[in-house]
Amino acid sequence: MPEMNLGRVGLSVLPLGVGDAFSVLHHPTSMLVSRYQTPAWDNDLILIDCPQSIRRMMREADDGRFHGLDLHRVNTLVLTHLHADHASGLETIAAFFKIAVGRKPRLVALPEVLEGVPRFLESLESLGTMDELFDVVELPTDRDLALDVGGTPVTLVGRRTAHPIPTSALTFSMRSGDATQTFAYSCDTTFDRDLWEWLWRAWRASREETGLVIHEVGHGIHTSYDDILHALGFRSGRDMPSDAWRRATMKAQLRAKSLRLTHYPDDMLPLLESSGLPLLREGKLEVL
Ligand SMILES: [Zn+2]
Repeated sequence: MPEMNLGRVGLSVLPLGVGDAFSVLHHPTSMLVSRYQTPAWDNDLILIDCPQSIRRMMREADDGRFHGLDLHRVNTLVLTHLHADHASGLETIAAFFKIAVGRKPRLVALPEVLEGVPRFLESLESLGTMDELFDVVELPTDRDLALDVGGTPVTLVGRRTAHPIPTSALTFSMRSGDATQTFAYSCDTTFDRDLWEWLWRAWRASREETGLVIHEVGHGIHTSYDDILHALGFRSGRDMPSDAWRRATMKAQLRAKSLRLTHYPDDMLPLLESSGLPLLREGKLEVL
């Protein structure tokens, strides 16, 4: 019998896009974070990154299950960095909140990311400056930032990643009863062992079987598939996937179960699907 969530309150993540910047199969990587409580989501949603087609992406991911996901239910935008596949919707989102919602959303990002935001808003001069359009909050890397999600405190902390422009990884934590639920997201990075361990430290702080680590995978400046396999502790990235799984240690298997890969290139999808590693999927809710 499938496990049923009867009123359990949990931190949850809804992927809106899981593709890389060049994907024709998926939307660019973006996700919504909220507190899940049967039968539906609260408002006060946290949106991570905003590609240009963000409203369409929310509508497609909703599919009726969340009673109409749209920007008016978002109160915080966490911006990881300013590459276009993550930030191209900034102008539209600012204008939509000003004109159609009539409220200032909170904008959270590293200070050096915030420095670059005004150039995305230049054409909105008549509507206002960044500080007039957003409630701007610097993302801390040395302490927790407290956010409120439907009356439940959620804490957020960032960490700089290895990417050509300023970029942050994120961890979110929420108290649920006497447990802490945590999910950690690498965002864009070349493989960085210290960042990898930082993500899994956050995971260990939650009940390990419910924590989640979301990591990117890709080509070039991104973390490779072999990097992921080696970091998990699979003996060889060159094994056939079934051999790699058979030889994997318990620790590797436990971590692989809590890992979700995202930001994947189209041509890597067959390999990823044959690997048995769990992928983040558009519209597939992850409840911790
Ligand atoms: Zn990027």
